[in-house]
Amino acid sequence: DHNASVAAGPPLPSPDGPGPASRLDLVKKLTESGGSSGDETVFSQLFSNPLFTAGFGLAGLGAALRYGSMGLRRAAGLMRQRMLVDLEITRHDESYNWVLNWMTAHYQNQLVPSASRSNGGVLEALIQRFTPGLHHLQIKTATVKTPSGSESTAFSLVPGHGKHILRYKNAFIAVNRERVGKSFDANGQPFETVKLTTLYHNRQIFEELFLEAHHMARQRTEGKTVVYTSRHTVWEPSGQPKRRRPFDSVVLEDGLADKILGDVREFQAARTWYLDRGIPYRRGYLLYGPPGTGKTSFVQALAGELDFNIAMLSLSQRGLTDDLLNHLLLNVPARTIVLLEDADAAFSNRRQIDDDGYSGANVTYSGLLNALDGVASAEERIIFMTTNHIERLDDALIRPGRVDMTVQLDNASEWQMSRLWDRFYAEQDPAGEGKKRFLEKAVKAGLVGNVSTAALQGVFLYNKGDVEGAIATVDQLTARSQGH
Ligand code: ADP
Repeated sequence: DHNASVAAGPPLPSPDGPGPASRLDLVKKLTESGGSSGDETVFSQLFSNPLFTAGFGLAGLGAALRYGSMGLRRAAGLMRQRMLVDLEITRHDESYNWVLNWMTAHYQNQLVPSASRSNGGVLEALIQRFTPGLHHLQIKTATVKTPSGSESTAFSLVPGHGKHILRYKNAFIAVNRERVGKSFDANGQPFETVKLTTLYHNRQIFEELFLEAHHMARQRTEGKTVVYTSRHTVWEPSGQPKRRRPFDSVVLEDGLADKILGDVREFQAARTWYLDRGIPYRRGYLLYGPPGTGKTSFVQALAGELDFNIAMLSLSQRGLTDDLLNHLLLNVPARTIVLLEDADAAFSNRRQIDDDGYSGANVTYSGLLNALDGVASAEERIIFMTTNHIERLDDALIRPGRVDMTVQLDNASEWQMSRLWDRFYAEQDPAGEGKKRFLEKAVKAGLVGNVSTAALQGVFLYNKGDVEGAIATVDQLTARSQGH
């Protein structure tokens, strides 16, 4: 302590006062004239000793300073304690992203344009620093793979690390988003917190803020389906929530979609039946058939109908090991359908191991079975698996608890063609005269059962609103399906 060392230093005579002797005399005279006792004289003599006084003075000053600064600090702390409220949110709390998104949305209009930043001097920088709003942002990019294999990218801006000042309902809130320590969690994400500080007087705005942030987060997902994909060891929403896919937008063979939906609903209603009997509350479905017959789309539409989200995983995904699959299946978000695509991949991996002893970082057949058997949850667990190659699967998969229902989705039947036509040309072809010609031509060309619903939809999309165009293109479909 700097002050303490000064106090302990050698006492110094006062440099410009009267000489030591003369000052002593003066004090002596004064005390004597007061007719004081001997004790007092000793006392006053002690005080009048210039060496002592100087030392005591300094020590006193030091102590005063010391206590003063401590006191100030304590007073500041106390004031802070009494006048400010902090609220800390860690990254692992669900509200972390809501609050960041809320901040961005709330202050979008206060963003400082980058142009004004470049030519700014110190003053401008200072003004910016202390004007409410977000001055540094971070970009969050999410790449989404569509079923067709193309990638789309969504990005959102969130407040970056550091301090921000926000004004909300007449209260100022200091926001500090920072990393905590240098550690990273299992997913390589740094530990982070966001700390909001405001005046104690305004503390109720935290509640309002959170309600608003939560409401915003709900609105973003209301009527939408969140698609989770695996990122390292956790499920993460991939891109923005998508508008729910209408259930009847996927045209399966007559009555098939409702049959599956009915089975899921029955399962959902039977919770206590399962729990009372100690049976894991889960149900597995296997959809198989040629590519482009609506397997993936149907699960999306079903999730929309049930107001569920989807956790999507391809078993042929590189780096997906048995352990990871097991871990992911045990940690599925609530109200989420699991969609395991390319279920046959696990079975081809078995062959690879058998044939040449190769065991790569891929899911194996026994790994898949173990993971499915391990799924136990108080919440309903609905698992859909899809494959284009049913013949590669093992019978061991088709067992209650693993796969309870197997459904074939095939190339378009005449019924499906008719339904799909209606979905596209109901307005242009209300009497169905065009549809009749289209179907006649399709049957004659041998398309029934030979083209996928995806290919058919492609033709209708290409000839949007153009009945004659669609009829004319039937031949092209034939050529395409023969080419395959
Ligand atoms: P799969 O998973 O069987 O390979 P997808 O579900 O990925 O097929 O379908 C690919 C595309 O074709 C999607 O855009 C989807 O909308 C469309 N599609 C395929 N089958 C159907 C169907 N039966 N009804 C409506 N659209 C379909």
